Amino acid sequence: MQTSDESAPPQPEIDSFTQLDLSRVMLHALERMGYSAPSPIQRQVIPPALDGQDIIGQARTGTGKTAAFSIPILELLDPLSECSSPQAMILVPTRELADQVFQEMERLAFGCKTAITVLAGGKLMRRQMNQLRAGTQIVVGTPGRIYDHIQRGTFKTQNLWCIVLDEADRMLDIGFRPVIEKILRTCPRDRQTILLSATIPPEIQKLTQRYLTDPVHINCSLSQVSVDSIEQRYMTVKQDDKFDILLQLLHREMPRQAIIFCRTKRGTDRLHRKLRESVPKVDALQNKRIECIHGDMNQRDRDRVFASLRDGSIDILVATDVVGRGIDVSTVSHIINFDIPLDCDDYVHRVGRTGRMGREGIAFTFVTVAEGPQLTAIELNINKLLQRDPLSQPAMARPAPNPEESKDSKLNGSTQFASKAADRAWPSLETIESQSVLPPNDAAATCDDQAAVKKRRPLFPKRRVNQRLARMGGDE
Ligand code: AMP
Repeated sequence: MQTSDESAPPQPEIDSFTQLDLSRVMLHALERMGYSAPSPIQRQVIPPALDGQDIIGQARTGTGKTAAFSIPILELLDPLSECSSPQAMILVPTRELADQVFQEMERLAFGCKTAITVLAGGKLMRRQMNQLRAGTQIVVGTPGRIYDHIQRGTFKTQNLWCIVLDEADRMLDIGFRPVIEKILRTCPRDRQTILLSATIPPEIQKLTQRYLTDPVHINCSLSQVSVDSIEQRYMTVKQDDKFDILLQLLHREMPRQAIIFCRTKRGTDRLHRKLRESVPKVDALQNKRIECIHGDMNQRDRDRVFASLRDGSIDILVATDVVGRGIDVSTVSHIINFDIPLDCDDYVHRVGRTGRMGREGIAFTFVTVAEGPQLTAIELNINKLLQRDPLSQPAMARPAPNPEESKDSKLNGSTQFASKAADRAWPSLETIESQSVLPPNDAAATCDDQAAVKKRRPLFPKRRVNQRLARMGGDE
């Protein structure tokens, strides 16, 4: 695995897309989208991706990772007239994310006709088959449906030169590993593989050892798992009082747009029902529009809810994690974890629904006394103490952090942090630490490093860039 190389000469600071060796048509599309400068993940991923290298990118959602892998792919595509079967495949965990990636790619492809097909479950099979038959350059989809097309022979993988596994940790969590492996086994060996994930648990490491070749490791998340622009608080609650406290919270905060996360589909339905009954009775909240979304809903309803969230016609969305991931709606101002997530990674993903690309956001997490260790695990994972919200129920107060910590709760060093967290009243810190919730610190190039990226293959992608520039009347 390649990581930062301290002996390498310092790399020039990249603060503009023009320094990234991109075609004029791409620079124009970026300008049109209002992207004035590359985000850290884009600065780090685009150069090695253009060189055809395999990449493991550790970045939370909302950092611009979609464009980070889409820009190089679009730059290197052969025209449809030269190759009518897919050249790049993006695997994502959910249908909604597939649609989002598709939309971002379409915008980035502005000015250069590009055939992109979404192959996600819940959508019409026949239409997807027709699109594939007509020829396509990029496929974006969920593993189950993609494998279905491969088996039917409607998706021919032999010309794929780039594969992206987006939100890889989530795909593994929801049981996609066997099907992902089956898909990868049908793809050409001489290809580029880019794996993006908020965290790199051991299962992902195994996958990368098996399917990636000498990857560059880019880490944009260690020190900023949950970004500073997101204020994060917790409130101690009794299970039976959660709903009342939620109403008080909504009343106090009057969120522009909020997502409330529940652990189960049934819990999501139940809370949605209760909110629809109670919210209209609270004067200040009576005009709030409330919807819910979870994996048991049919695709048409899910699409409708997402569209309404995006166009601002929903104020409060009650959701499960599966659909919560990857939602990219910049107007979401509040995240409320009605049920604390069982998995630290889910916390990061939920909170990442707000504060997108550095915008302001706030996240609240309800914690019952039995869930204390989970809160501590989350704090260890993000290396930050959450602040206690005054709506906490006093009988269950957790000792407040000292004022200095509250001012700057981002602590350096896991030992110092662990001891601060342990000073609090919650039990079993050792158990949590022994489960190793802290991400490994080694073998990773951080965003601040200008990683010395060694060229692995002298490769076809450069040729592709030149071809594209020639086609587009490029400026080089
Ligand atoms: P993602 O992490 O790909 O979901 O992106 C999060 C949001 O950031 C999306 O709304 C993107 O359109 C936006 N975005 C991505 N890259 C940039 C950039 N360089 N400048 C401004 N916004 C960006």
